[in-house]
Amino acid sequence: MAYIEFKDVCKNYGDEEIKTKALKKVSFEINKGELVVITGPSGAGKTTLLNILGGIDSLSSGDIIVNKMNISNLKERNLTEYRRKNIGFVFQFYNLSENLTAKENIDLVSELINKKIDANSILKKVGLTKKTDFFPHELSGGDCQKVAIARAISKNPKILLCDEPTGALDSKGGKQILKLLQKLANKDKMTVIIITHNNQISQIADKVIQIKNGIITKVKINRKPKLAGDLEW
Ligand code: ADP
Repeated sequence: MAYIEFKDVCKNYGDEEIKTKALKKVSFEINKGELVVITGPSGAGKTTLLNILGGIDSLSSGDIIVNKMNISNLKERNLTEYRRKNIGFVFQFYNLSENLTAKENIDLVSELINKKIDANSILKKVGLTKKTDFFPHELSGGDCQKVAIARAISKNPKILLCDEPTGALDSKGGKQILKLLQKLANKDKMTVIIITHNNQISQIADKVIQIKNGIITKVKINRKPKLAGDLEW
């Protein structure tokens, strides 16, 4: 059994008259520790898919199984628990608190989940040992995204969901982030899912899922994914 399974997942927005079918019977599987890229044009349903898997939006029909648990019909409280234990989110624009240092942005998570987190060791893991006391405005875009990734992985999620994580970065910053995400999947066996417009990024994925108009058009397995450091961009 795959680690993540989508079975005939549908998502409709709006009522009968103005109904948007954002996902139409979407089915696919993702294994533990895979680096997966989801590509497709704007409006294809990528963010909807990610939000549903992340437990911040509900599905209209179908089943989603994560680590043998069906999350399709979870009550709000159980969904929150699922999210807290399993999911880390990374967004295009970092969403850092501007008036807190890199370390403090991570300490904030400790307070939220009421559990001690060693911010320094996590910042070391993402390669920011020397910048723990920098504020976001003192960091490059790539470094801000590293802080955001450090924050997302600080509660040790099993699944990292990244929505256009390199969308605001230049090629150097983008590569650094992709190297980090590839390492988290390959070495730490975190399941990393990246949605992107950028087809180049597909080359580093173990699996590429293409989506258009709410329908999966192709699932491609890369037997030999490129190393992020070798990407030409
Ligand atoms: P993508 O991430 O691929 O650009 P989205 O998942 O954001 O696509 O959107 C898929 C479709 O669902 C689009 O037609 C979009 O307008 C619609 N949609 C997304 N979110 C909502 C919402 N909260 N309410 C109504 N329609 C939505």
